[in-house]
This record gives sequence, C-alpha cells and structure tokens, in this order.
Amino acid sequence: MRSTSQPVMSPLASSSAYDVAAVRATVPALHQEIANRPLVYLDNAASTLRPERVLEAVDHFERHDYSNVHRGIHELSQRATTAFEAARTKVASHLGASRPEEVIFVRGTTEAINLVAQTYGRSQVSEGDVVLVSEMEHHSNMVPWQLLCLEKGAQCLPIPMCDRGELRLDELDRLLDSSVKVVAVTHVSNALGTINPIREIAAKVHEAGAVLVVDGAQGVPHLRVDVAELDCDFYAMSGHKVYAPSGVGVLWGRHELLDSMPPWHGGGNMIRSVSFEQTDFNELPHKFEAGTPNITGAVGLGAAIDLVDDLGPENIARHEAQCLQAATEGLLEIEGVRILGTASSKASVLSFVVDGVHPHDVGALLDRDGVAVRAGHHCAQPVMQHFGVPSTSRASFGIYNDLEDVERLVAAVRRVQEFFG
Ligand code: PMP
Repeated sequence: MRSTSQPVMSPLASSSAYDVAAVRATVPALHQEIANRPLVYLDNAASTLRPERVLEAVDHFERHDYSNVHRGIHELSQRATTAFEAARTKVASHLGASRPEEVIFVRGTTEAINLVAQTYGRSQVSEGDVVLVSEMEHHSNMVPWQLLCLEKGAQCLPIPMCDRGELRLDELDRLLDSSVKVVAVTHVSNALGTINPIREIAAKVHEAGAVLVVDGAQGVPHLRVDVAELDCDFYAMSGHKVYAPSGVGVLWGRHELLDSMPPWHGGGNMIRSVSFEQTDFNELPHKFEAGTPNITGAVGLGAAIDLVDDLGPENIARHEAQCLQAATEGLLEIEGVRILGTASSKASVLSFVVDGVHPHDVGALLDRDGVAVRAGHHCAQPVMQHFGVPSTSRASFGIYNDLEDVERLVAAVRRVQEFFG
C-alpha cells in the first residue's frame, strides 16, 4: 500500500515514458491520509490539486513581484505586468492562438461564455434567431444562451445525443439553417467524458454562417488543444481544472470577432479615454479586462501551462487513457455497476451508477475509504434527464493518478456494492 510520505513507483511509471511517480511527488495535497488511508483524489473534473511548481510560482510572485498591472511606472508594477503578460503569451501559444491579444483573462469558463453571450450574442442574435446548444452541455454553456434568447425573443434549441453519449451530427445537420447564429458545444463532456469532433462540427457550423463557441473546461486538462486546427471561433477554459489556482480562466476568440464585439464590463483598463461627452474603448485584450484582473491567478496559470507543456499533452492523454481503461474494465466487473457515457472517443471522466444505491451514498462510502469522487448532476441536468437518473458518481483522472488509484477505486466500489447488496 502507498504511504502518504513516500510515493511509490506505479506500474505505469516503469512501463511507459510517463513518470507518474515523479509527478505525484510534486503534489503536496496528495500525500495525506483521509479516513486513515492515503488519499486517492479522483475529483479532477471538478478541480485539480496544485503541483509545487504552481504553488512556488504563486508564492514567489506574491512575495517579490506583486503590484497592480499596466498602469504603473515603478519597478514592481513593471515586473507584475511582465509576469501577467508572459502568462498570456504562454496560454496563447499553448492554445495555438495566432496572437496573445486573442487571449482574454476572465474568472473561468463560466465568465468566458457569459462574455461571448453578452457581447457577440447580444449584438448578433435577434428575434426569431436560433442558438443551438448540445444536450450534453454543462449549465454554464447553456444558461447564458437561454438568458440571451429570453432577452432577444430568440430560441435556444438542443442538439441531441445518442445513448452512448455521442452528439447526433445528423441532427445538427437537420437543425442548421440560416436562422442559427451561434452553436455552443463542449470539447469534452464533464458528465460523460465524450470528446466531441469539434473540427467536423466547425465545418458544418461555418457552412451555415454561424459561429462555434467551444467550452474547453475539460478539453485543456486532457487533450492537446489547437484552436486553429479545431477551427472554432471561441474557446473557453478554467485555470483550476488544469492545475492552476481558481478564479482565473481564459476566453480565446478569433481576433476579428473580438475586435468587432462591443465591450462587456465597463471600468478601468478597458478604456482609452473617458469624458462625459465621449468614451473610447481600449484595444484587445484590454477592452474585455475591466478592473484589476486576477494577476496572481494568471501567473499561476502560466506556471501550470508550463508544467502541462513539459509533460506533453499527448503523454498526459495517453497516461490518463490507461487509467480510464483500467477503471472502466474494473468497474464493469462489479455486478450492478453501469457506466454512463460509452462514446468511442472519451477523455478520463467516468460516470457510473450502482444499482439500488444513491450516488451520494456511493460518494460518502468511497470517502470513508479515502477515495474522493464527485456525486451529483455535475451541472448537466439534461444529461441526467437523458439517462433517466437524478445523478451519478464520477471518477475523473488527472496527471498524478495511477493504476493503484484505479485499484483503490474499484475495491471501494466493490465494498459499496457488498454493503448494500
Ligand atoms: N464546463 C464544463 C464542461 C465544466 O466541467 C465546468 C466545471 N465543472 C464548467 C464549464 C464551469 O467551469 P467554471 O466553474 O470554472 O467556470
């Protein structure tokens, strides 16, 4: 059994180039006991734990370089501005943006999507228009569009999925016509793990003359993301899902779209000049960054992106796929366990139900075994409605999970089944 202070080598570490033991050793929160057992953290789709590299970057910045950004001429303000803008450049390069100004710092995915809905959406969607949203969306890529449609007298319609949790592209074809102005789709479903074929969807959406907004909250942590290759128009992400602090995230948008959009929040930094007669707005990205941003959060995000780049998104995806496969096989061997989301292309998010046991009881019993999973509707109630369940238990894997974590999960679920069976 793993001790809390001395991370052991996992079978994965010896059988592949990905050194999961080395990654585990750099995440302090992993090395503790919960319920007298070494913690197994499988709630990464909700939020990830922070590696030393991120903690150190944040700590160093706060201790030595912190000040407000952009408007100061003194040394500390210049250092803070340099660090903040360096983080923007790192994110831009990681996402394949054509320039750093396409990266807008926001609080997270939710704020990024609200920004698009309230600026692009408000200026482009009119009465009688349609916004298409997939059936597997997180509420944060659904409710902002419903609010917009309510305000404009437009319709927000679902793109259905099949029972494997794959989007019905034939239905998308049927729904796409000239009334559709925006299509909003997640890159990876947080409730089912489905990886959507964004490039294929983008081609259809553009042919219909609409724009494609991608929720990348679960895309960036698990996949290599290249917005140019995906050919989407907007891409939203959250720092805390990718090993950075919470309260910081990014909206990437095509330069020409962002440039033509009206501003959203008004205040300092987003203006060039202000008078009672006329106010001129700042250029990108500042036009969308009113007020003091989460400076330290952005620096932490830059460090997290460095880490992911060093590990290699392809290596991470391969490693997590091994965990997903082992967990899927292990859980399916237990009588009465059903997995929701069996798409042919999946990231490491595993939703399951145990017959006759409420998912919250599953979560609570797993916690007593030191295994942290999430139980609930995962802010994707239409997904739950599709499968006729109120909620599921969800195990999600990150860079530091290994096959020993999978074994602990499977053993703990087996005990749940025995307890109730
Ligand atoms: N979309 C997806 C797919 C998510 O998993 C989440 C977080 N659970 C969000 C959006 C919302 O992210 P945040 O709370 O960081 O804004």
